[in-house]
Amino acid sequence: MMTGLSGVAPGNSPLSLSLDGVALVENWRWLARKSGGAACGAAVKADGYGLGAEGVVRRLSAAGCRDFFVATWAEAAALAGHTGGARLAVLHGVRDADMALARSMAAVPVLNSPEQVQRWKSSGGGECDVMVDTGMNRLGLTPEEATSGLLDGLAIGTLMSHLASADEDSAQNGEQLRAFRAVADRVPAARRSLANSAAICLGADYGFDLTRPGLALYGGIPRAEAAGWIRPVVTPQAEILQVRNVPAGACVGYNATWQAQRDTRVAIINLGYADGYLRAFSDRGSAMLGDWSIPVIGRVSMDLVALALPDGCAAGEGDRVNIAYDLAECARLTGLSPYELLTGLGQRYARIWQD
Ligand SMILES: *Cc1c(COP(=O)(O)O)cnc(C)c1O
Repeated sequence: MMTGLSGVAPGNSPLSLSLDGVALVENWRWLARKSGGAACGAAVKADGYGLGAEGVVRRLSAAGCRDFFVATWAEAAALAGHTGGARLAVLHGVRDADMALARSMAAVPVLNSPEQVQRWKSSGGGECDVMVDTGMNRLGLTPEEATSGLLDGLAIGTLMSHLASADEDSAQNGEQLRAFRAVADRVPAARRSLANSAAICLGADYGFDLTRPGLALYGGIPRAEAAGWIRPVVTPQAEILQVRNVPAGACVGYNATWQAQRDTRVAIINLGYADGYLRAFSDRGSAMLGDWSIPVIGRVSMDLVALALPDGCAAGEGDRVNIAYDLAECARLTGLSPYELLTGLGQRYARIWQD
């Protein structure tokens, strides 16, 4: 039997992520339809945004996804053999220290700088992707570098750029689109790619040949156009370790930030900031037990959270609760981004796919 970190079978793990594989695939299909004529890939960096990259890649490749994006060669190596023959691209490109691994794997680097281009050429070249910076000033060649002859002789699979403000109605989107078109007209590449999740919602102009959604696959709503279509995928589930009676006037948790106004039954669960349930959820988060919504009270600890049980809620030790984890709502409550809410999920969850 497969065991988790603790040697406990995943089904018995006291802390788990319930992952809706049907919703994941439906989200990808919606994004693929919105990508128009472009192929729809998937960003699976940061361990599939915290869900577990292998489980994500297995489901999406079975659904027809042929292009996956990771950040590092270690992430690529972890997925080798699980992509169902789909293409894997490494967004950080190649350092000298990566070359041996890069040359031994089917994954391709996304070359971001003149140094990376030279490194790839001098080690023999071969298929690669190229990132052009069109105004975000993050990774990528400048348009001038990309059209200077530097790329001559490279076999470019995908020429790409990335939008800084696709989740807003910003003039920067159109400016970056025009800048990308101008470079793409002059640099030969098998395919061109610009759109992340939010840019897919901006319309067909942004699709080119290949799109690269991440967040929306995992249930994040990148723009209003996706609301009502994108389904939640991730629900953390924890277990009640102890229920205690807290008399009126007594306090709960570090620094005694919560004080009982009346006698209160309090449930302690096995979740904390080490699991990505950050202190920003203190006095703000909630859990569900059946139809009961149970508020988080006091400070979130490293491995524990306290919940105030409503009158009539007969919860006891060993009962499982679903943590309320609607990404938009939690982002509003905590000030964290939906990206942080996903990628911060730690290593202590058993990741349990429901499909
Ligand atoms: C992470 C990433 C994506 C995916 O972005 P989302 O906003 O999560 O859809 C696409 N392209 C690049 C270059 C990225 O780094």
